[in-house]
Amino acid sequence: MKNTLLSVTTALLLIATSCTKSHTKTVDSNVNSKEDTTTQSIEQQKSISLNRVLENENITIQSIDQHTWHGFGNLCFNESVYLIEGNNCAMLIDAGVRMPGLRKIAEELVHNKPVKLYLSHLHSDHAGSAINEWDELWINSADLAMFPKFAESYKGKIHFMNDGEEIKLGNRNIDIVFTPGHTPGSTSFIDREAKYGFSADAFGSTNLLVFTNLSTEIATCHRMNLLIERYGITHLFPGHNDGDNIETPKRVKDVGEICLGIMNGQYEPKSVISNLNLVVEDRGVKINYTKDRIK
Ligand SMILES: [Zn+2]
Repeated sequence: MKNTLLSVTTALLLIATSCTKSHTKTVDSNVNSKEDTTTQSIEQQKSISLNRVLENENITIQSIDQHTWHGFGNLCFNESVYLIEGNNCAMLIDAGVRMPGLRKIAEELVHNKPVKLYLSHLHSDHAGSAINEWDELWINSADLAMFPKFAESYKGKIHFMNDGEEIKLGNRNIDIVFTPGHTPGSTSFIDREAKYGFSADAFGSTNLLVFTNLSTEIATCHRMNLLIERYGITHLFPGHNDGDNIETPKRVKDVGEICLGIMNGQYEPKSVISNLNLVVEDRGVKINYTKDRIK
């Protein structure tokens, strides 16, 4: 079932049977090394296991570095959350499908500093029930066009992120980068100092679902490529992280080029039964779309 994100709707229907893969992968423990370069492959970084710091029936948390954690649930292909700690406060990216107690868990990991919640986009495997543990959160307003009921169902205060804004955590600043394509409001977060980012479903982690249109995704890939080059970003942590599918600079480039190839008629897509019924597979990447998204 690896790398088979399907559509979110389909994926959630499969929760009971399909999302129970084991979590025994080793991943890049060396991600915060100053020696990282854009040419260093993810394979080279996999030599040491990430340190598992918490595991219960709903969530597993492992440390990426001393002040950054990856958490994942077991309901939708390792639906992932990321906790980033500065010396004043911390931020959490996404809230999984069902992760009760997530806020308390996050606050304890950062020694009871305030933890602000930012949502990468409003799909229910990233904006699940744990969002209600926060009395405020931050989203990209562009997703409200696709998910108008979100604002009615969430009872806390909704803040809107601004593209290019810095989230100041004290000694650590995180850039907000709007990366539409998967959804209109898909948002990535860049840690320039650590040279990595958090892109959720924006580049698909090998299986991209394009719910907007291909030219939007191409523009996003182009923009992220420029940022990757400018800041020497080595990789982006995805929204469904199984350890083997972390986004690389090459993958972001490939996704943009394949989407452009689809626009130019260079591929013969496979038809599948899904709300995104056309699939092109190339260079280890699947792009899922529909005919009316070729624009
Ligand atoms: Zn999504």
